Amino acid sequence: MIKTAVILAAGMGKRIRDKSGDRPKGFLTFDEKPMVQYSIEKLLNAGVTKIFIGTGYKSEMYEELKKQYPQIECVYNEKYETTGSMYTLYLLKNYIHEDFLLLESDLLYEKSALNILLTHKMQDVILASKFTNNGDEVFVEISSTNSLVNMTKNKEELENIAAELVGITKLTYSTFQQLCIKVKGMLQKQQLMDYEAALVEIARQKEIYVEICHDLVWCEVDDEHHLKWAVDVIYPMIKAREHVPRMIERTILLNPGPATTTDTVKYAQVVSDICPREEEFGQILEWISNELTKLVADPKYYTSVLFGGSGTAAVEAIISSIVGNEKIIIINNGAYGERMCKIANVYELDYIEYKSPATDKINLINLEQLISHSDEKIAHLAVVHCETTTGMLNPIKEIGDLCKKYEINLIVDAMSSFAAIPIDMKEMNIGYLAASSNKNLQGMAGVSFIIAEYQRLHNCKKIKPRNLYLHLYDQFEYFQRTQQMRFTPPVQTIYALKQAIIETKYEGISRRYDRYSKSWETLINGIEKLGLTHLVHKNHHSKIITSIIEPNYPNYDFYQMHDYFASKGFTIYPGKLDKLGTFRIANIGNITYKDMEQFIDLLDLYIKGLQGGEEYFIS
Ligand SMILES: *Cc1c(COP(=O)(O)O)cnc(C)c1O
Repeated sequence: MIKTAVILAAGMGKRIRDKSGDRPKGFLTFDEKPMVQYSIEKLLNAGVTKIFIGTGYKSEMYEELKKQYPQIECVYNEKYETTGSMYTLYLLKNYIHEDFLLLESDLLYEKSALNILLTHKMQDVILASKFTNNGDEVFVEISSTNSLVNMTKNKEELENIAAELVGITKLTYSTFQQLCIKVKGMLQKQQLMDYEAALVEIARQKEIYVEICHDLVWCEVDDEHHLKWAVDVIYPMIKAREHVPRMIERTILLNPGPATTTDTVKYAQVVSDICPREEEFGQILEWISNELTKLVADPKYYTSVLFGGSGTAAVEAIISSIVGNEKIIIINNGAYGERMCKIANVYELDYIEYKSPATDKINLINLEQLISHSDEKIAHLAVVHCETTTGMLNPIKEIGDLCKKYEINLIVDAMSSFAAIPIDMKEMNIGYLAASSNKNLQGMAGVSFIIAEYQRLHNCKKIKPRNLYLHLYDQFEYFQRTQQMRFTPPVQTIYALKQAIIETKYEGISRRYDRYSKSWETLINGIEKLGLTHLVHKNHHSKIITSIIEPNYPNYDFYQMHDYFASKGFTIYPGKLDKLGTFRIANIGNITYKDMEQFIDLLDLYIKGLQGGEEYFIS
């Protein structure tokens, strides 16, 4: 069992001096506690009893920590200004006499990082991760047996790039001794040598294993950009992950939202009771509104207005609040387009339904003719981005261009595309966008929101209200004035949404869409192998949800199939087209292509069951 750790903390952190207030980087604070202190506490909790800190710049601040943690011993590198991290480590050679963990001082990491190394069967192990893209990565090249070949910030020097160095390493005493002998001569010439370069040297003669961890939340803080990432995303992510008391049994939702959520999103709801009229809660709402806007527009000009309610609430709020006596075209190529027509009908709006076949691309020439031949000016046009009925992705950019040409305000129901398929409201000329908390955002159901330009929202004031609860202008104006929703918000759903947004930022929208796309491709290839077909051509497909034509067997029954999958932990969804028999599979939420592979295997068994042997169902 390893009892010793070394933290390399001599550096001057020049690139972040103005943010750190001239303190060493380890003293950047999170929730008012220095970063290095989180590291120290994690080490002590993991069973480490002795921590050496290699100090240099402002060493007295580290000395001060000894009062609180008697396990600390500082070793001072007086040449810290002219030497690199290897020299600091070298100075520890007279202090260390056993295996140890080696850490950099400017890391935020979750405790599992330490456990991985401490329980690792290999002796000398470097911890690596998938790429953070932080712009200052040390890339790692490995052999076919996962041992270290090279690592450097310069990609060109590497034959292959397998992973990124985290900055936490387990070293045996003997490797450390060899390292010191090896670099002794080198250090005289290359005083700025960093410990990474020295490890590469020693890896030539001794195997150093590289453990690549794909699900580790961590970051390094070298500059302002890293610090912002650490404050906004990494620190809250680590806090949330370490607060999950136990894993919740996982079900795989293949219905189009609410989607499978992470345990961290689920547990984010478990908070002290709070009156949502408190300022603290208002700040959370303000943060959420701003972050949602940032996903699709510039928050300087655009804002998000939140409502308690499912996604339809946001769509209804737009359609009922922003259309006066003018004409609106509603494109209907599925159940969600039709729903917008129903809303327009209820509010007795002057709307034109533009019906388009469910599985073909919207004919933009016909649409343009409708607009240009209309006696009355068309003021608004509403369209669904991803038509969740079929999975069809409607061409909103092209429709946006058309709307620009005829000065039409474009309303987009982006419920099942938002936070997965990239959207830029300005570039796509979208006037109003509606989405909700429980689809690609991977939050809980209960919040829907509208994103629009401030200017447009202000202009809605002149339209006579048709309803109270869903009145967009009033909700907007009240929120601007008070940072509150007019009526009781779904408090716990809001906390979950905050965590879901942090997780969306952590993954990034394009990576999320890549993950979804990979699941979708697994699904499509899988069903094709089983002889099934899907409705919408790949070229117009959203890769979010797929309408699959039902297997053609006399004994097929959707509900029986549903129950079969339910017993295996998968939820599937019925179709929504009148004529054709379909069922739907969504690939959103906290799932991966591996789950989809499992789904395909089960579907294979199910179909074999339909073909004959009942025994396939029993397993
Ligand atoms: C999910 C969804 C909605 C909203 O449905 P709710 O049941 O109200 O959440 C609206 N439009 C589309 C395209 C959707 O996918």
